Amino acid sequence: MAGSTTASDLCTQCGLCCSGALFDFGPLTAEEVPQAQDNGLAVLAEAGKFGFAQPCPALDGAHCRIYSGRPQTCRTFRCKVLRAVEAEDMTIGEAHSIIARTVAAADEARAQLPPGASFTEARRWRREAGAAHTLNAPPQLMVALGMLDLLLDQHFRKTSERQILPRE
Ligand code: SF4
Repeated sequence: MAGSTTASDLCTQCGLCCSGALFDFGPLTAEEVPQAQDNGLAVLAEAGKFGFAQPCPALDGAHCRIYSGRPQTCRTFRCKVLRAVEAEDMTIGEAHSIIARTVAAADEARAQLPPGASFTEARRWRREAGAAHTLNAPPQLMVALGMLDLLLDQHFRKTSERQILPRE
């Protein structure tokens, strides 16, 4: 997603911003919709706004199959880890370590998902369990998802987007 060698190195071993781990969807402009459809993205439309569902079908390992034709949101997004490295607040070694741990946590949580289910659905089950005080999802999945969201909250999400840690 990014232009510098350092950024490319990080992004091509990560993919968390495309795999459904970090986001449910990406925004699209109306002008981007035809190309997104041609590229096989699952376009969403509601109340005159557009987006595409994640996990993104263009993600191949940690690489984008449609890199030169990817939507604008993919071109401009910078996660917190990347911005910290670019600002020299984090070493490249620390960033690689955080990414490796978080990708492993995402793999672990994905392995616990029922067939055909997504992180989005699993997070909805967790919210519903909190409201109803009953857990209708596999406990192992909730533990693995909690570990993933803790790492994403700590290192990747803006404070206002946190799923588990306080939004202060
Ligand atoms: S189009 Fe490419 S960069 Fe954008 S979400 Fe999909 S895989 Fe990631």
